[in-house]
Amino acid sequence: MSGAEEAGMAGRGGDRRTTRSKSRYGCFLPDLTGLARPPPIADLHPLYRVARGRAQAGVVLECSEADRLRVTTPPRPLKTGDMTLKAFTNVFAGNPLNRASEKRGDQVWLDEQLGSAEALGMAMWNGKPLVENAKDGGVQLAYLPAKMARDLSGGPEKLLFMGLWQDTAVFAIDIDTSADPADGPLEGLGRFEDLRMIATTMPVGDAGIAATARAMFEWRRRHRFCAACGEPSEVAEAGWKRICPSCQAQHFPRTDPVVIMLAVRGDSCLMGRGNHFPPKMYSALAGFLEPGETIEEACARELFEEAGLRATSVRYHSTQPWPYPSSLMIGLIAEVAEGDAIPDNVEIQEVRWFTREETRRLLAGGVPDVFAPGPLAIAHQLIKAWVEEG
Ligand SMILES: [Zn+2]
Repeated sequence: MSGAEEAGMAGRGGDRRTTRSKSRYGCFLPDLTGLARPPPIADLHPLYRVARGRAQAGVVLECSEADRLRVTTPPRPLKTGDMTLKAFTNVFAGNPLNRASEKRGDQVWLDEQLGSAEALGMAMWNGKPLVENAKDGGVQLAYLPAKMARDLSGGPEKLLFMGLWQDTAVFAIDIDTSADPADGPLEGLGRFEDLRMIATTMPVGDAGIAATARAMFEWRRRHRFCAACGEPSEVAEAGWKRICPSCQAQHFPRTDPVVIMLAVRGDSCLMGRGNHFPPKMYSALAGFLEPGETIEEACARELFEEAGLRATSVRYHSTQPWPYPSSLMIGLIAEVAEGDAIPDNVEIQEVRWFTREETRRLLAGGVPDVFAPGPLAIAHQLIKAWVEEG
């Protein structure tokens, strides 16, 4: 995988996309003056109404107390084949919405919801969610009335039906203007922040919802043209599909699997430095799964290509949706055979063995001149889980 993506996994590095138009307000915000005013109070969702004027108390879509625990939630124990649905180990997992896919094609119902006073909207501006301060510190999503999101969107191309929170429909709006809407039509309703920077301070469910919206909007942004014939495609299924009006091809959101594995041998693990890592950072090795490969085959191939190591067994740990732009990180622990670890000098410039005790200190920031990715990254959870095994 690219260095930029690896650096991103460590929670560092900015969004390097440069394809946005300079200003597209005019395309879908015909009346900036009017929209800059707060919407009439009667139009607001009751929960949202409570939140107005009190920045610390907005809408929180809670699953349960346990689900709201931050990323400090200890990684679950390693068990081969364990894929319990209750696990919210990794940041960006745990979207609590009922996706209600059966409603995506029901335009009458969608229009009703978008016009109702109850439905909610969440805004993303160039991949950044609109957030507000949470009562207990940290930040949470700042919801708009869905009507407002609809009016801002200018049509279905920028809207996405996210699903249901209990009986409440939740929509997302994609804003890609150059000007910050929080200084314009959304003034006073929250602020846009880089999701990677705030994800670990958000309720688990909010980070999951924001990650889903971000991944969907990134897919849409990068797949506006039919991959079969090149004609512009059109949005369908409330944002979850695109159809080519010319050749009728249907296009669905993609998820690109990435294997990320901690290579271990006895009481040591191996980490590497990617070419574009921040100075002094070491992490688990990673790479994209290729067509025709199983997860374990991809793991073995990447370990051999990047570090010259032969995997002898592979254990699954957990997965993490990673919306930069559309990956699923598949976290693994791989036992490797005897033999020297040699960096490929293409993607990996340096590899290093760490004893378990050294790794424990590394996670605590106690190894001079070396650090590992923070809790946002699944690499951190893999390393931590292995340390805690011993
Ligand atoms: Zn086509």
